[in-house]
Amino acid sequence: MGDRFQVIVDLDVREQDAPRLAEQLVERLVTDGIVLAEREGFLLGAHPPGPHWHRAAAPDPDGDPTDGLAVHLGRGVFHSGADIPEHAVCPHCHAHTPLDTDGWTRVGAAVAAWSETGAADLACPRCTASAPIPEWTWDNAPLAFGHLGLKFWNWPDLGEEFQAHLTALLDGHRTAYLWGKL
Ligand SMILES: [Zn+2]
Repeated sequence: MGDRFQVIVDLDVREQDAPRLAEQLVERLVTDGIVLAEREGFLLGAHPPGPHWHRAAAPDPDGDPTDGLAVHLGRGVFHSGADIPEHAVCPHCHAHTPLDTDGWTRVGAAVAAWSETGAADLACPRCTASAPIPEWTWDNAPLAFGHLGLKFWNWPDLGEEFQAHLTALLDGHRTAYLWGKL
């Protein structure tokens, strides 16, 4: 067993706008009965499921949600927990760079720099062009970089309709959906 999470990461929100956007979004989810307003002590103050949580779930949910929605604010690198990607995919030439020891050393340095400063470029070994690390894609276990993450702990799968609804509530920003286990 273990804890499973699903996270929606806002890829576009600016750091200074994230708290306001998060507050509006949680208010709306509370109004819709998807989560409760009061936060509980477990999981760093997560919002427990509300009476209409099933509106957020895919049809025929595989069980009730047992934990809450944790809102992550500030610069965050989101990943799947135990799984890591095998290849980094260049946004320019789409070459797959294997994440062997050397590959991870370079990616790790860029991720660390982004975490520290909010900006970092990664160069492609194939075409030699550089791109900001958030613009790279990843194969089987994505990484997402953003200033607002909505992490649902131990919920049934979120429905596609609900994910689209969340994206609309996030001012139509680009989002990433990741899930993982700890
Ligand atoms: Zn390239």
